[in-house]
Amino acid sequence: MRKSLLAVAIVAVAACSKGPEPDSSKSVQALEVENAQVAGDLTAPAAQDNPLLQPSALQYQAPDFSQIKDGHFEPAFEQGMREHLQEIQAIADNPEPASFNNTIVAMEQAGSLLTRVSRVFFNLVGSDSNEARRALQSKLAPKLAAHSDSIYLNADLFARVEKLYQQRVTHEMDAESTRLLEEYYDKFVKAGAKLSDEQKVTLRALNEEHSKLTTEFSQNLLKLSKAIAVVVDDKSELEGLSESEIKAAAEAAADAGHEGKYLISITNTTRQPVLTSLKNRELRQRIWEASAYRGTSGELDNRPLVKRMAQIRAQKADLLGYENWAEYQLTNTMAEKPENVFSMLSSMVPAVVSNTKAEQADIQAMIKEEGGDFEVQPWDWAYYAEKVRQAKYDLNESQVREYFEFERVLHDGLFYTMNKLFGIRFEPRPDLPVYHPDVQAFELFDHDGKSLAIFYADYFARDGKRGGAWMSSFVGQSGLLEQKPVVVNVMNIPKGPEGEPTLVSFDNVTTMFHELGHGLHGMFSNVRYPSLAGTSVSRDFVEFPSTFQEDWASNPEVLANYAYHYKTGEPIPAELLEKVLKAKNFNMGFDTLEYMSAALLDMEWHSLSADAPQQDVEKFEAEALAKHGVDVAAVPPRYKSTFFAHSMGGGYSAGYYAYMWSEILAADAFAFLGERGGLNRKNGDWFRKNILEVGNSLPPMESFKKFRGQAPTTDALLVRRGLKPKEG
Ligand SMILES: [Zn+2]
Repeated sequence: MRKSLLAVAIVAVAACSKGPEPDSSKSVQALEVENAQVAGDLTAPAAQDNPLLQPSALQYQAPDFSQIKDGHFEPAFEQGMREHLQEIQAIADNPEPASFNNTIVAMEQAGSLLTRVSRVFFNLVGSDSNEARRALQSKLAPKLAAHSDSIYLNADLFARVEKLYQQRVTHEMDAESTRLLEEYYDKFVKAGAKLSDEQKVTLRALNEEHSKLTTEFSQNLLKLSKAIAVVVDDKSELEGLSESEIKAAAEAAADAGHEGKYLISITNTTRQPVLTSLKNRELRQRIWEASAYRGTSGELDNRPLVKRMAQIRAQKADLLGYENWAEYQLTNTMAEKPENVFSMLSSMVPAVVSNTKAEQADIQAMIKEEGGDFEVQPWDWAYYAEKVRQAKYDLNESQVREYFEFERVLHDGLFYTMNKLFGIRFEPRPDLPVYHPDVQAFELFDHDGKSLAIFYADYFARDGKRGGAWMSSFVGQSGLLEQKPVVVNVMNIPKGPEGEPTLVSFDNVTTMFHELGHGLHGMFSNVRYPSLAGTSVSRDFVEFPSTFQEDWASNPEVLANYAYHYKTGEPIPAELLEKVLKAKNFNMGFDTLEYMSAALLDMEWHSLSADAPQQDVEKFEAEALAKHGVDVAAVPPRYKSTFFAHSMGGGYSAGYYAYMWSEILAADAFAFLGERGGLNRKNGDWFRKNILEVGNSLPPMESFKKFRGQAPTTDALLVRRGLKPKEG
């Protein structure tokens, strides 16, 4: 999830994305001829028929999908950007002295058309894409970036914002308005609004070089995935793989010009899925080394890029008045400062490492049992861990699915839980238009019968939908704009065969709870300013309300209401359920350690100061891991620097920690309410009032403390992951 200030949801995207990256190769929808043509002339008569140009007349401005055609988007974007810029310029040029209303509130009110079209368009590009939509998306990207620059580099506008910011203590302002002003000010400052002209030239040069390097880094990663694929000469080396995997490897080899051989492709994490089943130890080592050492030699050496990018970020932070890049990135997050991230992660190291060592002992014993006489290496871990898992749990996934029939999960699981917690009801609204026949529309009613929001459920996998799961909004809540939320949950659950019920994996059941957690964060939002609403919170907070809801999926009272065999109607057997829950936490020491190592590595790279020399990449990595006591030889970081796309490629630099930070909050909050009776209205209302309603109108640590009575601790997370026994 990315945050966008300015009500302009230029980035009207999801609160989260679970699962794989968008897959652009899969498209299918027929291209309607009329949609392919792109109208540019807004004076043309067709413009009057463009439903995006005015707010929808449907309830809560829910988009009228029955009227929107692909050809409507581009003219609406063009007009939206034009109108928005005019509004912004009028604010900057206002002859009246700057006031909170004529500047900040005015910016919140500006850009309504652009917001409207962005939200509809970017939602559909993700959930129901086609060629015309993707083409427009590429065309729009640079225009929207330039649009945003022209606002944040508007010196007259910044002068007004800065003046208000300096007066904020003397002028009496409510907490939400103060928060909004501070957010705007920070955003301008971080974009470089305070720099002298000379410094702006330096900043622009750094930005340009940085953007070139990140692009090169990402392109190298793409090229590397081809270059480092492992060619295997003989089928006998592939023992352990299934026939269909072997066939796919043979086809991949033929496609790559290695007829008669087998090609193992390398995915973008240090560990490789194929290592779980591949028996040949030498081949496992070859594959692992191809993965772990990628980008450290030859033409696609990413090390020079990593060194220089770390340096550029440090220099940019310095120019903008921050000690290092991590500090720059962490302003306005819940963690606030790098040292808070380091101490949170460090506090978990002993428990995580000791659990990993115990897993390692099990694996070592399994190696011995299988007649091996060697110490476990990174390329052995997954292979023997799988054998340990089978010995311990032997779980049959399709047997489990039979207890989770889709409609029952939705109504008797999800909606039931939310009713118990918040007293809310979801009523079907088949009269509202949807963008695909699989989408179901609901209206959400509060405990007192008041209507709260519109909710679309788009749960099934199909062509044209990107992978993963996410929540997004078509209309954001705002008291100022008198808007109620219109929210969607999107997932990729494989739909049952025609005429048969859909059976859901327990993993997907949990994800349904997760996404509805984001959904309620959006639908319970109760703030004044649109850019502070719902899920517009920092990235180390945004996964908190969603992860919090996950654990209800396995709550005994909830299970007793929904987990029944789809044919026999029998409740899920206790032993099967226990296996499911235990198997969830299998190998969690390894999983947590490899994640934490990567998160710490990311933080260390971005803690360098501007005058630090360029680093030796391998040496830097080794020292960073040793410094934090996470240097376990058999468990390398999930990503190493030369292929750490989150950290080096862009968006998540000094931010990879955020996933775990959010989970810490979720586990702590869930355990806290568990001690107070768990599933009841009192707990639900408390969570709603202090966390879900406030959006970003308060600093996140403040809202958390209001809810919890204290800052979060990591104990509950360790218990949740099975890394620490539950007390009492
Ligand atoms: Zn999420």
